[in-house]
Amino acid sequence: MNTELYLDANATSPVLPAAIEAATAAMQACFGNPSSSHACGLRAKALLDATRARARRVLGAASGRVMFTSGATEGIQTAVLSALCAVQERRRRGAACGDLLVVGATEHKAVPESLAHWNRLLGTGLELRVLPVDGDGRHRLDVLRELAPRAAFVCTMAANNETGVVSDLDGIARVLAETDSPALWMVDCVQALGKLPLALDATRIDYAPFSGHKLYAPKGVGLLYVREGAPYTPLMCGGGQEAGQRSGTENMAGIAALGAVLGALEEGGTFRSHAQLHAWRDRLAAALREAFPGLVFNAPLAHALPTTLNFSVPGMSSKELLDLFDAAGVRVSAGSACSAAKAAPSYVLDAMGVPAVRSASAVRLSFGPLADEGFIEDACARILHCGRALGVAKPAARLQQLESCGASGWLLFDDAGHHCIAIDPPAALAQRIAADLGARGCRLLACFDTSHGAGGADALCEILGVKPGWPGGAQHVVFAGAMIDAIALGQDVLANAGDAWLLGRAENGMLAPQGVRFVFGAAPADAALDAALCCHRIGEPAVSRPGAAALPDEDIDLDPASAAAYLAAHPDALLVDVRELPEHAAACAQLRGRRAQHVPLSQLAGQAAQWLREPRPLVFLCRSGNRSARAARLLRRLGHAQAWHVAGGLALAG
Ligand code: PLP
Repeated sequence: MNTELYLDANATSPVLPAAIEAATAAMQACFGNPSSSHACGLRAKALLDATRARARRVLGAASGRVMFTSGATEGIQTAVLSALCAVQERRRRGAACGDLLVVGATEHKAVPESLAHWNRLLGTGLELRVLPVDGDGRHRLDVLRELAPRAAFVCTMAANNETGVVSDLDGIARVLAETDSPALWMVDCVQALGKLPLALDATRIDYAPFSGHKLYAPKGVGLLYVREGAPYTPLMCGGGQEAGQRSGTENMAGIAALGAVLGALEEGGTFRSHAQLHAWRDRLAAALREAFPGLVFNAPLAHALPTTLNFSVPGMSSKELLDLFDAAGVRVSAGSACSAAKAAPSYVLDAMGVPAVRSASAVRLSFGPLADEGFIEDACARILHCGRALGVAKPAARLQQLESCGASGWLLFDDAGHHCIAIDPPAALAQRIAADLGARGCRLLACFDTSHGAGGADALCEILGVKPGWPGGAQHVVFAGAMIDAIALGQDVLANAGDAWLLGRAENGMLAPQGVRFVFGAAPADAALDAALCCHRIGEPAVSRPGAAALPDEDIDLDPASAAAYLAAHPDALLVDVRELPEHAAACAQLRGRRAQHVPLSQLAGQAAQWLREPRPLVFLCRSGNRSARAARLLRRLGHAQAWHVAGGLALAG
């Protein structure tokens, strides 16, 4: 699992070795400015012209404008600006131009955001209308037919970056023609290059932006095609480069690299055929189905790029799946890379009517046409490995935290893991908790919410066919001089003291305050409970210790090298992997040869009590540094002075 398998090609791709060579040569031997008239400049100009000629052949664009840009986002701005300026011009002339901006519901955000921006900035006043897609992710041509006569500008992508769904461009062109639409038409072709045949001259498309980094060229270079006769307004003015269409000294290294990729496309032999890519996608799909029973694909494979699979696994979140794949060295994503850092559900899947629970579990796996047999074989083997890691039997934790949407629930187990009490179980996880308890053969002794209507106790009990609530009256213990209800859980009891539930060890029917280890519900007023940890439903961290002075929790970062040095200097220090069990099962975590002890974040509260009793330096580690930072902060706030984490996590630790 040491090597990385990059299966996120729709986000960006590695750079083709021939492209690196071409870029290096452009920077070393052919570094001239193509606008200079001396020999250096002329050589650069020749490279520029040859690359453009190549682009024309690959795009099937013998006529019209083909210019180099910094990428698709710039191409999109230019197209939008050109179209909106044309609308203003047509209006001035009194020509028919339509009053709607029609944008496909699943376009990359660069498109609707640019439309809104320029429409506002130019004061064009066009009405933005979203063209819906059907359940397969394809544009609703019936709706387009209604909008087209009033459309000034229509934007529909060639293939979707999240789902790989390929648009019916012929169908769209037909509707525009049949309705005699005055619309200009932009087709975002970013995901089509190298994966779909292109013959732009033969289409009605007015603007087609492309991006180099989606097909083995570096970031920062792209192309924009503008149909002959289509209105054009430059976005950037200055030195008049690109025949005045796009000023600014050309990015010659990027253009040379893009030229090498276009050359490989034109000459053949470098990239795999459509049929080969299809066969590989089918193998990956089969491996996914085998690894994750119940898996569903979120777009019909028949209408998708042969290099993209978007799927969901019932009962698992995208984040959990991504963490699992990442642990196995497989880099996939939850949707578009631009929104990966935000926890928002996918607007693309929403637009397709995919249910929210499925979209919350969506993962995109994408590869490029440079893949080979060995790569696909490795990918299938790793996918199966991930499936097996999920199936690894979970060791019984004494106390497990369940998190959903900022709320925490708690599962309390006896030592053998045969009996369990659920407190404030999140409703969203009810199905999953029930399945998990069933798989362990674990009996639910009680299931309740600490405040009425707050958790999902009713939902969990309904699935399991048991009665919700606190089953009072069966047993009692004496606590603070009063007889209170209790449930035995292995050798412990959970006792109900008003709004608080106390977990601890009772002796001869007495629960002494010092014997209480965890408190759920309202924080206790009894000062004698100061040593206990309070487990909350809401709050970050979800565990507190009323009796301890919280320590500052800002200074917790150690970069990987400092963490390794710290561990070497503190032989009693513990390196703790806080990733969840499937990730640990996929690959054990280590830092510079030192193996970590595994305590998943969801089980940290149970373990924290012992670390506080017997303090030793702790260095937490996870995939990216987020969960380990939470763990270190939690321990500091509980009063542990030597809790640290590896900033950047395993991703930066190498
Ligand atoms: N359009 C689509 C379909 C994309 O996938 C992307 C990149 O994610 C873009 C536009 C933006 O491209 P660039 O990164 O070159 O600006």
